[in-house]
Amino acid sequence: MNNKQIIIFLGAPGSGKGALSRLCIDGFGWKQLSTGNLCRIHRAEGTALGKQIDFALKSGTLVSDEVIIDIAIQWIDQELKNAPAIILDGFPRTVVQAAGFLQFLDAHYSRDIVAIIELNVPDEEIIKRLSSRLVCSNKLCQAVFSNRTDALRPQSTEKCDFCGALLVQREDDKPKVIAGRLATYHQHRNSLVDFYKNAGYVVHTIDGNRQNKEVFDSFLQCVSNA
Ligand code: AMP
Repeated sequence: MNNKQIIIFLGAPGSGKGALSRLCIDGFGWKQLSTGNLCRIHRAEGTALGKQIDFALKSGTLVSDEVIIDIAIQWIDQELKNAPAIILDGFPRTVVQAAGFLQFLDAHYSRDIVAIIELNVPDEEIIKRLSSRLVCSNKLCQAVFSNRTDALRPQSTEKCDFCGALLVQREDDKPKVIAGRLATYHQHRNSLVDFYKNAGYVVHTIDGNRQNKEVFDSFLQCVSNA
């Protein structure tokens, strides 16, 4: 492994990017950029940006590339100095964002510190996962639970195991929004993969439709070979 490493998790919402990130954070002290979590923090704090992106968050549509690139690059620039590795969860989501990210990388680091891992989960499973997902309403926690699988079941159905705040369903995890979010993911996925391949990257695909531990083992294998 290089001294510094950046892992890009590519995958539909609900494909397990967050759960895998959690295992890397707890196991290795890596840091996770979740652009979705950052957007929700802005909204909860009622910042100007939070107000600007409120509609996109509710409706499950994408925030503008310009805004997201700004938020993400600022975070990466700051956190990569201190962490051995960082995970990009939910960024880049479009080719414009990927190009913005590579531009930053070329200016400050090198392209070979990046590994790209795609989590592959069938849409039917994604729909089940998202509709049964519960998240902590504390903006600084945002832990994810589910009543569908033992590994993610909260101790109390109402409260977060970590901070005790109320568990809620995300507005964009409601059935009528899920279909649009999945469609947006599929709309961008192929062009993103082509972009990465043209930039000289291998996109490693992992079967994400398994227990977290098995997914984590496959991930570790990919990263050590990357
Ligand atoms: P997530 O938590 O990753 O599912 O993201 C939740 C929402 O945040 C998305 O539906 C978008 O509205 C916004 N968002 C997060 N990341 C991005 C991104 N890279 N590009 C555009 N919008 C994003």
